[in-house]
Amino acid sequence: MFAIKCLLPNITKPIAIKTITTTATLNGSLKPPQKLTTLLGISTDRTQTIPLETSLKYLKSKAYKQTYGEDPVWVPYRRNHKGAIPPRKTRKTCIRGGHISTGNPCPICRDEYLVLHENNTALLNQFISPQTGAILSYKQTGLCQKKHQELQVAIAKARDIGTITFDVPFRKYNYADYYKE
Ligand SMILES: [Zn+2]
Repeated sequence: MFAIKCLLPNITKPIAIKTITTTATLNGSLKPPQKLTTLLGISTDRTQTIPLETSLKYLKSKAYKQTYGEDPVWVPYRRNHKGAIPPRKTRKTCIRGGHISTGNPCPICRDEYLVLHENNTALLNQFISPQTGAILSYKQTGLCQKKHQELQVAIAKARDIGTITFDVPFRKYNYADYYKE
């Protein structure tokens, strides 16, 4: 007897979405191929907008920690492409018409509770290099082009309003240059 303990009642645990088609035979008859998402009852619907408060709460939750651990959200993601050499750019978008339209959505698109917002610093900092302070490339993170652009906008806004700090090179001024002799 096991009692399933829900870690956070409001938030369901995100599961890596895969749309593998199956041709399982049931009672001997060949069933039409069904997507794994429909078989597992995972929703690919992305029409609802998740509020920032929920995302902030999620990033601190046990469900999040169980899914990602201490690593950034893009670490367990693996790009899926034809051939040995990956295409130069990642896909344009993972969500079309309010639904996930790919079998391997990017780290942000696959988890709907990760909201790119200038106040969501816990998420944004995962996409900034600790060595250089630059935004990590989509080649490394695997983000789709749409989410990468949203990330750039969110980080720019965060730096503007000061939720993310950054270093500027120290400059020594010679004030004599600014005065008339
Ligand atoms: Zn995406």
